[in-house]
Amino acid sequence: MRLLLLTTLTLTVHAAPVVAPPVVPRAVVIATARGETAIPVGVHKGHAALPVSRLGAVLPVTSEVFGDWALVAFAGEPFRFLLGAPLFVHDGRVVPVAGGAYIVSDTLFVPLQWLAEFVPRIFSEGYRYDPRSARFEETRMATRTPSVATPAPGRPGSDAARRNGLRLAHRVVVDPGHGGVDPGNPGRHLPGNMREKHVNLAIGLQLRDELRRRGVDVIMTRSTDTLIALGERALMCRDECDLFVSIHVNSLPARRGYERVDGAETYFLGEALTAEARRVAAMENEALRYETGGGDLGGDLGFIFKDLQTNEFLRESALLADIVQHQTAATHPGQNRGVAQAPYVVLKTATRPAILVETGFATNRRDGEFLASKSGQQAIARSIAEGVVEYLKRYEAKVLVGTQP
Ligand SMILES: [Zn+2]
Repeated sequence: MRLLLLTTLTLTVHAAPVVAPPVVPRAVVIATARGETAIPVGVHKGHAALPVSRLGAVLPVTSEVFGDWALVAFAGEPFRFLLGAPLFVHDGRVVPVAGGAYIVSDTLFVPLQWLAEFVPRIFSEGYRYDPRSARFEETRMATRTPSVATPAPGRPGSDAARRNGLRLAHRVVVDPGHGGVDPGNPGRHLPGNMREKHVNLAIGLQLRDELRRRGVDVIMTRSTDTLIALGERALMCRDECDLFVSIHVNSLPARRGYERVDGAETYFLGEALTAEARRVAAMENEALRYETGGGDLGGDLGFIFKDLQTNEFLRESALLADIVQHQTAATHPGQNRGVAQAPYVVLKTATRPAILVETGFATNRRDGEFLASKSGQQAIARSIAEGVVEYLKRYEAKVLVGTQP
């Protein structure tokens, strides 16, 4: 199915008008404040292409290959090239080019057309290309803050954000799991009528306040006791959003010793690598049965792009999960259960780094009491907020390459 769709995609692109650079130069000169470098042009596939590794030595270019795709970032702005096909994907759109990216002797080549036409268009204040002299010039040191990966292009952060060491404005979507007709887990050691959905909401609202106090803008998927479809939750974190945090409470089915299991763990989207991860994901995905008419996550084409986006944000999600888990474990009374990957439906529609925090076990007495208490909820919310800010600082350090602090 996937192969078929890619073929269709390629055919469509062939039909689109393409404009090739008129002449193939032997080399392209990269001129930056740090000097000039001539990079030889490859013509292995009949069109002009440049070795990414050479570009990366003089420009803010990074690359990674995932299967058939190469993810190339320019100053943090991601471009995804389908290897061997005359296209790349930028900002969710397929952009046709005369010739595509390819690999020769372990070296990734990207089309000169990308660097000559598209990069200067996107970074219009930072770079220009002169086709006559085959010269790519940096016009000023600062690079544009990418629109895809960061929420608030160039907007300076608030005073509160600056006090916390953040330089840009950020927005986070906080998702208290379950709600309305979906109570979540019954909460064996939660008092009275308290269910998982109540704890998630209480922690979520605390997290919102903690993040706002740190100068980070927050959108809640729900701030009352209502049910939001799983597929819609992460969709609230698209443009102008940095990351997505879903809050849940774990529980175990009754079997010998199950009440002894405690502690928090943080998940990011991926294949479930352990039986336990499969179990927890299956439990959280159960919420689908409360939804009516939902479940369409964007069709087959949607899956291809989701795939790409997943690759792109997988490592970021893993890093975010790791930092948040580290912070949470430091204040949690239970054991540190670490970070895991699992195929959560709620994370599948994410186009930004997305994590799901299982804040503890309602089937454990101490965890249950901790999660039901105002102080426990506050402690969890505070540690997640600390983790999020720490992650955002690292993220800023990556995207603000070459700018003054
Ligand atoms: Zn849950």
